[in-house]
Formats: sequence, structure tokens, C-alpha cells
Amino acid sequence: AGAASLALTLSACGQSSEGGSEESGDSAKGATIGIAMPTKSSERWITDGKNVVTELESKGYKTKLVYGEDDPDQQVSQVENLITQGVKALIIAAIDNKSMNNVLQQAKDANIPVISYDRLILGSQNVDYYASFDNEKVGELQGTYIVEKLGLKDGSKKGPFNIELFAGSNDDNNTRYFFGGAMKVLQPYIDKKQLVVRSGQTKLNQVTTLRWDGGTAQKRMDDILTSAYKSERVDAVLSPYDGISIGILSALKSDDYGSKSKPLPIVTGQDAEVASVKSIIADQQSMSVFKDLRELAKVSSNMVDALLKDKKPEVNDTKTYDNGAKVVPAYLLEPVAVDKSNYQKELIDSGYLKESDVK
Ligand code: BGC
Repeated sequence: AGAASLALTLSACGQSSEGGSEESGDSAKGATIGIAMPTKSSERWITDGKNVVTELESKGYKTKLVYGEDDPDQQVSQVENLITQGVKALIIAAIDNKSMNNVLQQAKDANIPVISYDRLILGSQNVDYYASFDNEKVGELQGTYIVEKLGLKDGSKKGPFNIELFAGSNDDNNTRYFFGGAMKVLQPYIDKKQLVVRSGQTKLNQVTTLRWDGGTAQKRMDDILTSAYKSERVDAVLSPYDGISIGILSALKSDDYGSKSKPLPIVTGQDAEVASVKSIIADQQSMSVFKDLRELAKVSSNMVDALLKDKKPEVNDTKTYDNGAKVVPAYLLEPVAVDKSNYQKELIDSGYLKESDVK
């Protein structure tokens, strides 16, 4: 094809020739890709949906994007519908990682490759690739931030400090990686009694937060403050996700934390959502873990593009993510800790958020 007909093909796909992507192969050309996201109640997934659509469209694909509103049954029937509608590949961020088995068999039978997006789908052979971040590192960044800010890491303080622990939804495979990564850092200090969990709730099954719900976390923090902190103060809270951090901060503030005589504890987070970045700037939430969703959209869209052109997707991890049925080849991106000292550089200067969003 000459340059003119290539330009024509590209513009027919709604893409400028500056996009630099190749002309789609025959099986890929004009194909529709199904994207199933878990919920619109958290900003990150709205951003994910938009970014993945943009990336795929820039490669000449059509897209169908659905949100499951945190209801696993609804998500399963949405994916069934996408299969019936003839999508050529699926990108799925599952709500309940174990609910997908049957529907993924249907995908397999229809020869539709499946990318597990951000959260690993468990128990199914029919997960082709996994696009995510280094999830254990997310937890390590949170745990390390706590021991550094308390002065335990460099030994300038010995403690004991009081800490409470929160984890994500127990049906999300990431939860145990985040918590495991954080506890790898925190457990030695708990063992030496430099960190004390006054509630006594230290096991993963005691600290999970169903569907990552901020209100549920707020209630649990309220209960802990009432039962375990009559005269004591909490110095740090491990929180896995910004929406949970906001709930925890509400509970703390209702108990007078944040006043002159009662400083707020260190509170971690994840996703660099706008409300939490504002909270960080206002000296409330201490930090978040930034995961550049623009990159995740690129990685997952490149995987789809490669598969539909009979090429091998690029991966950088073939060992870590065993879903119980197979080890799923993965591309893992690097998370970055952000707080008041570096949010400008990481989030604003990089163009991830606009200054006007957070000020
Ligand atoms: C994601 C996190 C997110 C959480 C709640 C996890 O699976 O990896 O980025 O904070 O879900 O939506």
C-alpha cells in the first residue's frame, strides 16, 4: 500500500498518521475489544477505562467498555454479553477474582484471548496475560514510608508506636500482595515491640475491607478507636487504598485527631486519587502510591494488539503470578510513593494530574 492509501486506512480508523502505529493485520483490522472494569465509584477505574479506550482506538480498534458496579454477578453477565456481541479480545479487571471461570471458558471456546487487567483472575487456565504493577512493591512502599517517618528505620526513634492495619477486599488477589509487602517491612518491628497493634488485629482475615469500601473502613476505625485507644494514641495506620484512607481519616477526625493537641497519625494510601492528593497537600493523608495508569493502558493494549496480530506480547515476569491453574505471564510496572515532597514532580509535572485538579 502506498502512503496515500495508508493514510486513508488510518483516518478511516479515526486515527492520525502521527500515531505511528502500524496498519492493522487482517484479523485485527476494525476488531472490537471488550473492556470490563469493576466500578465507577473509584476515580482510578474511570481513568483506566478512558485510557484503555484511547490507546486501543489509536491502534485502530473499536471498543466496548462496561462497568460492573462492584457486583460480581453483574460483571460476569456483562462479559457474557461482550462475548455474544463478538468482541475479538477481552481486557478484564475482575471484581471477584474467582467468579470468572465459566465465562472465561466461553471466551476460550470462542477463541477470544483474555488479558487480566491490574487484578489477577484466579483458578482459570483461560487467562492469557496479566498487565499490572509490582503489587508487592506497593505494600513495601507503604510499610517503608511508615517506619521511615516514625524514625524507626534509621534508628533515631525506638518507639513503641501504635499502629493499626487495614487491607483491601478479600476477593481481590492484589490484597494479599499489598498486605504481604507491607508486613514484610512492618512485622520485624512488631516482633521487637517497636510497633504495637493495640486492637490485636494483625491477620489478613481480620483486617480486610470488602470491596475496598471507605465507609466500612471508617466504621472499623471508629470501633478500634473506641475499644483500644481509650487513653492511648494511634501513631500510624496502614491503609491500602486512598478511598479507605479517606474513611479512616474521617473516623480519626471525629475522635479529635488533627487538633493541636492530638496530631493525625501517618496514614498511607494508593492510587493518587484527586481527593487524596488534596488531602496530602492539606497535611492530612501522609502519602499515596502512584501507579501511572497511562502506562498500564499502553501495556494492556499492546498485549491485545500483539495477540490479534499473532505476535508475542512483551512480558517482564513469568514466575510470580500463579493463579492456581497456571503461571500467567505478566508485564509489571513500577509503583512510586508520593507525598507532599514529590507530588509536584511525579503527578503534576508528569502531566498525570492538572495543578488545577488538586489546588
Ligand atoms: C488496585 C488498586 C485499587 C484497589 C481498589 C486494586 O486491585 O490494584 O489500585 O486501589 O483495587 O480499587
